Amino acid sequence: MRTCIVSVIIIIVEWAGLPAQALPFPADEKLDSPKIHSSLVKYSNIPPAWRGPIGKALASFPELVHTHVRFRVRHARSPLATNRDWMSFLLHFGRQAYIITISDRTIPALSPILFDSLDYGAKIGVIGHELSHVSNFSRRNVFGWLSLGLGHLSSRYLDRMEFATDSLCIAHGLGCALLDWSQFVRQTLQTHNWRGADNIMAGKPHRERYMNPKTIMARLNGPCK
Ligand SMILES: [Zn+2]
Repeated sequence: MRTCIVSVIIIIVEWAGLPAQALPFPADEKLDSPKIHSSLVKYSNIPPAWRGPIGKALASFPELVHTHVRFRVRHARSPLATNRDWMSFLLHFGRQAYIITISDRTIPALSPILFDSLDYGAKIGVIGHELSHVSNFSRRNVFGWLSLGLGHLSSRYLDRMEFATDSLCIAHGLGCALLDWSQFVRQTLQTHNWRGADNIMAGKPHRERYMNPKTIMARLNGPCK
């Protein structure tokens, strides 16, 4: 019965198209905004060499100028992950605060794609993807968060959510950097459809979750280099 109820909820959430709630990037916000997010951005044990590409990606997200974002390094399976800082939310009356965790140690199969191994462009691209999550999360109301929680029970929901997140990253002008990341991860791990750290041991992946290089290139306005 419980499975049945969960299935119904998933169907309702999917029917409502909530992942498509990857809300559109406001057209009136300049992509090349020179705003620096220094005051609300915190770097916990982040190597100085990483701050360049992180800052470059941040500069493409002017809508986050009032959002608290903390970058930290941890031993973690997933090379990068973004979460809401719920402690800050509780202590500061609903504050918009997020934590982007960058892994410096993971399982052997994922070690080749740790952040430190990426070239400059790929670093910007993958941070751009995580900041696109922040941008999306920061526009969600309570129902949006509810749907996000329930949506994690559905593989197809996650497919659409991650695809929409890559799309948002490109809309922020980081398509070429995202392409660098997309090519790197596929070449390094010898996979066609990269579906994330949690699916590394899964059989041959058949659905595109994160955009493949071909998909990204089709959305670019011109050549990258
Ligand atoms: Zn993601």
